[in-house]
Amino acid sequence: AAKSSGRDRVHLFSPALREAARWRLEVATRLRGDAIDQLVVHYQPVVRLDTGEIEGVEALVRWQHPERGLLSPDTFLSVAEETGQIIPITRWLLRETTRKAAEWAAEGLALRMSVNVSARHFSTETLVRDVRLALQDSGLPPDQLVLELTETSVAEDPTRAEDQLSVLRGFGVRVAIDDFGTGWSSLAQLFALPIGTLKIDRSLLAAAERVAAGDTGAVLAAIVGLTRTLGIRSVAEGIETPDHLRMVREAGCDLAQGWLLGHPMPAERLPAWMREVKEAGGDLCALAIAGR
Ligand code: C2E
Ligand code: MG
Ligand code: MG
Ligand code: MG
Repeated sequence: AAKSSGRDRVHLFSPALREAARWRLEVATRLRGDAIDQLVVHYQPVVRLDTGEIEGVEALVRWQHPERGLLSPDTFLSVAEETGQIIPITRWLLRETTRKAAEWAAEGLALRMSVNVSARHFSTETLVRDVRLALQDSGLPPDQLVLELTETSVAEDPTRAEDQLSVLRGFGVRVAIDDFGTGWSSLAQLFALPIGTLKIDRSLLAAAERVAAGDTGAVLAAIVGLTRTLGIRSVAEGIETPDHLRMVREAGCDLAQGWLLGHPMPAERLPAWMREVKEAGGDLCALAIAGR
């Protein structure tokens, strides 16, 4: 009887759940093996809204899976986070991206490099060492590196977060809060931290768009006003249309990212793409509104 009820319980899992479990196991196994060698980094331009110039790029990881093709981070990073593999992955990313940024700078393309750091890595002592080593080995000026942390990474333990951020700021690296507006952290707590940049999640953009005409962007403008007062720079994420672009410029955001301005692209493509933009006048905002 015990056996058959055990077997019955197995039937409670749908094929989709079973497939999900199988995938998690595959990811966990492969990430311990050779999958790190199959990771690739794409770079998305971060654009100044006053001049339309490219200020930097955000590094976004992908997995070139031998059978499934190019996989987006949300298919494997949550597993990496659970197993702890996110730490060696990010360590590799920090080395790879700072090396790239230093290489581009030597070719005359000075770009600030933003790297996403997970909550799990942020909560360890190794992050500081990993950042220091990447800067040392690449020779990248520290103020050219931005670490993106989510609200939840810093909200878990604000006192510890403040200490950790102070050490990182001591190196001269910059810190940005990513996906702002998706969590429920206390604004007072968040803004008490030594952060330089706030990245406004694209869900807030969508919310602002739904507000009746006239009020458009009021929430956005209020957030941006707050960052201004505190001397924090703001980045609007997920700019997909000329309307989005107009809205975030009117709200007073400093920087923006999104498909309208530039898709994430492989390292090999970035220099040529940047040359094209330069030849077209260098103002990505003007080019985007004109529909290129
Ligand atoms: P994120 O850091 O907020 O990155 C922005 C995400 O929005 C990226 O998705 C980017 O490709 C996407 N995006 C950019 N412009 C647009 C747009 O106009 N419209 C829409 N709909 N989406 C846009 P991606 O590359 O799939 O990354 C998703 C998330 O995965 C990232 O969100 C970040 O939280 C995480 N992630 C990516 N790479 C890394 C990494 O190296 N380390 C860690 N810890 N997390 C990473
Ligand atoms: Mg990010
Ligand atoms: Mg983001
Ligand atoms: Mg986001």
